Amino acid sequence: LPADPETANYVRVVRGAALSFVHPSPTWTEPVLAVWSDRCARACLDLEVRPSERDYAARVFSGLAMLPGSRPYAQRYGGHQFGVWAGQLGDGRVIVLGEYQNRCGETWTLQLKGAGKTPFARFADGRAVLRSSVREFLASEALHALGIPTSRALSLVVTGDKVVRDMFYDGNPREEPGAVVCRLAPSWVRFGTFELATDWNELELLRQLADDTIVHHYPALLAHERSHGKRTSADSSRSARNEESQNPMPYRALLLQVAERTAALVAGWQSVGFVHGVLNTDNMSILGITIDYGPFGFLDAYMPEYTPNTTDLPGRRYCYALQPTICLWNLLQLVRAFEPLTGTNLSEEVSQTYETKFREEMSARLRAKLGFQTWNSDADNGLVRDLYELMRQDRADFTRTWRALSWLEPVACLQKSDASLEPLLRVLPEPVRKNPDRLEAWRLWVQRYAERTLAEDNFDGTARRKQMQAASPKYILRNYMAQVAIEKAENEQDFSEIERLLKLLEHPYAEQPEMEALYDREPPTWSQRLGVCMNSCSS
Ligand code: AMP
Ligand code: MG
Ligand code: MG
Repeated sequence: LPADPETANYVRVVRGAALSFVHPSPTWTEPVLAVWSDRCARACLDLEVRPSERDYAARVFSGLAMLPGSRPYAQRYGGHQFGVWAGQLGDGRVIVLGEYQNRCGETWTLQLKGAGKTPFARFADGRAVLRSSVREFLASEALHALGIPTSRALSLVVTGDKVVRDMFYDGNPREEPGAVVCRLAPSWVRFGTFELATDWNELELLRQLADDTIVHHYPALLAHERSHGKRTSADSSRSARNEESQNPMPYRALLLQVAERTAALVAGWQSVGFVHGVLNTDNMSILGITIDYGPFGFLDAYMPEYTPNTTDLPGRRYCYALQPTICLWNLLQLVRAFEPLTGTNLSEEVSQTYETKFREEMSARLRAKLGFQTWNSDADNGLVRDLYELMRQDRADFTRTWRALSWLEPVACLQKSDASLEPLLRVLPEPVRKNPDRLEAWRLWVQRYAERTLAEDNFDGTARRKQMQAASPKYILRNYMAQVAIEKAENEQDFSEIERLLKLLEHPYAEQPEMEALYDREPPTWSQRLGVCMNSCSS
């Protein structure tokens, strides 16, 4: 249906459609382009914005000016929130501007987050605050640079509006500056997109969504059939559907692929200590990429039960240690949603595929982080388990501890000299350094690790260090770092710290010695006080 500006954005139940045409509803007239990801613009959109074009960019990427040919819409989806079926959710404050096919042939769907209510806004205001927009902007670019599949962030526009948020730890509402982020992904379809169609028994729509996903995003799954001559054109899902009777669509293969990609994604998160924070099925991408950055956080001190989400505090459903389990649970909801198409229960097969892939990916990443050429499942998993137990007991910093291992000299460690522990001592918390028992526990582990390292054929210290430093980042987006950048932006309209973090996090695995003093450190004590740097679902 064409969008009628009078009625398009009314909050409602949307039946039998995967999307609703909407209009951005900017209440601002002088938006400011605060930050621009040049890297994303060039790589995804073949786009360069000159200084003289920044004002126009601010208008376009805050929904004030429409690009020619753009027909904005909001997507419908449902989801399980904290394990409970929530019915219709949908893009409540996200508006899709359209797709762009770049010179590499990749297609990117552009979204504005915070440009007004849509039919899916439910009880909320359709807006986004600067604080969470800065966090989403920086985190998506940071994960991309870490090599973890993710949506991208193009721009951050400060609207000049005030937005009221009332979920603070002290219970007091607060007025905050409003912002709009433009973010990009090849597809924004979620597990919950399929779940809702199935729940409402809209089976033709379900089939259409599944077929389009396969044709546009998993075309390799069709290749087999095509090569056997039956399918002449897989270019449109319509032709795919028409041939469905003689040549069934590969729904089972799709689910197995999604399971594998999701497993690889979670292994990536676990390996760098990223905690998503809201792994509801509406925040799970059918492409297996990280989407919907809200109250995410990176581990500082290693705590398996760490959740960055205050809404999640009693249950800790979305804590670091449970992410692999929860993502499988989410996949099984997707499997159920596909049952009308697959005609059978694939839970067992999907679980096995997921678990196998997760184990493989995790071992590969841990192997690289430890600097090994080979992986002996039992012994090496034991080594990792014991390292994590040391980190947990001593509240060692996850990122700095892993990185420090790359600076250990295995030969010196075997000789048990105190100096050989130096790289670790530099990053372990003060009380550990003063506690002979704890130090001895670390020394014993390091010795085991050194023995294992040197037992490899063709040991090469330089190659080892390089491998380890490409797997264990030196710089991550810690909550306190984002917080400093946010406060500067909020209080002084100074976006330079965001720019600086964006640059820093473009090369998370590089040493960048000039940045060390500021960013290679544990969070300062002010940031550890209750309520500071904490985030909930509804920001
Ligand atoms: P989330 O927990 O961020 O994934 O959001 C869950 C649902 O709430 C999604 O349907 C969002 O679009 C919607 N939502 C969150 N914040 C807002 C807001 N400020 N205005 C409208 N909808 C929102
Ligand atoms: Mg969401
Ligand atoms: Mg959100």
